Amino acid sequence: TSKIKLGIVGYGNLGKGAVKAIKATEDMELMAVFTRRDPETLELDDPSVKAVHIDNASEYQNDIDVMVLCGGSATDLPEQTPHFASMFNTVDSYDTHAKIPEFYQSVNEAAAKHDTTAIISVGWDPGLFSLNRVIAEAILPNGENYSFWGKGLSQGHSDAVRRVEGVKSGVQYTIPSEDAIKKVRSGANPELTKSDKHRRVCYIVAEDGADKATIEETIKTMPNYFADYETEVNFISEDELARDHSKAPHGGFVIRGGKTGERNDQLYEFSLTLDSNPEFTASVLVAYARAAHLMNQEKQFGAKTVYDVAPGYISPRSAEELRRDYL
Ligand code: NDP
Repeated sequence: TSKIKLGIVGYGNLGKGAVKAIKATEDMELMAVFTRRDPETLELDDPSVKAVHIDNASEYQNDIDVMVLCGGSATDLPEQTPHFASMFNTVDSYDTHAKIPEFYQSVNEAAAKHDTTAIISVGWDPGLFSLNRVIAEAILPNGENYSFWGKGLSQGHSDAVRRVEGVKSGVQYTIPSEDAIKKVRSGANPELTKSDKHRRVCYIVAEDGADKATIEETIKTMPNYFADYETEVNFISEDELARDHSKAPHGGFVIRGGKTGERNDQLYEFSLTLDSNPEFTASVLVAYARAAHLMNQEKQFGAKTVYDVAPGYISPRSAEELRRDYL
């Protein structure tokens, strides 16, 4: 049987991860990476990859089964997903949770009109975490869901500390509180505020001669970002930052404590510990690209989410094989 042919739109962290993720499969192949930049100037990690300008993507409609959309959620995907869903099957990792309903609407309109299948908001959160929140709640209606994130490098909070005067460079990690996790695992279903659940740890490289105490104070009192949290500020050298903080780790937990019958506590837990957030997210996208292709062949057109995709569709194995080896 022939391989599923994929394209990648956008060559950032996720796009680079998608190249590696496709390579790790046996049933899919990468046709081209599409970019808004001059394709000649793209510094490709893998020289065998073909780079094409995004404006020429429509010429590939007969050669690509699914486009893996790797643009940013803030401004790229709201434009790119409906646009590409009118020409290709797509998967994306749109993660602005509050705007998913309107995003779904606009993608669904394009995909339904053009008989394509567009699986939106795939990744780990939204994505695998969403799936687990729903499964846990359906099985244990009498209970409470908790999501914890981290230890993870937060892009938004890292940008915020880098804008503080006297800061040369720095990163911020969001860390789930051990204490809060312990309470949740005990089955107590506690009421937890955002700051009960997470703390924030910063690693800062200060400019020469900058006042570290002032920097620390400015970070710790920054409204919205840090003021409501327990925040730790560490000063390190530029070498240490490059050596110890250049990966993009993330992960977290979905936990539901529930009761069945009169007095039996049941605990549902799903966790991820990731060395590289973008490489993992891209791997989820690529697995779901398989589903987009199959569902389209079965004429399941329109926008879909992880809730609409049967797990067997993301696997390269046949239904027979799955029944025999994994049930
Ligand atoms: P990047 O900022 O690395 O890339 C976004 C886009 O910016 C790329 O598609 C690329 O488009 C452009 N770009 C990248 N690097 C450069 C550069 N050096 N110069 C100019 N343009 C560049 O974002 P990420 O790949 O890290 O993340 C993409 C999105 O994935 C995030 O916005 C986030 O919402 C989502 N995400 C979702 C997760 C989930 O669990 N659902 C988890 C993690 C991320 P082009 O090639 O066209 O220029």
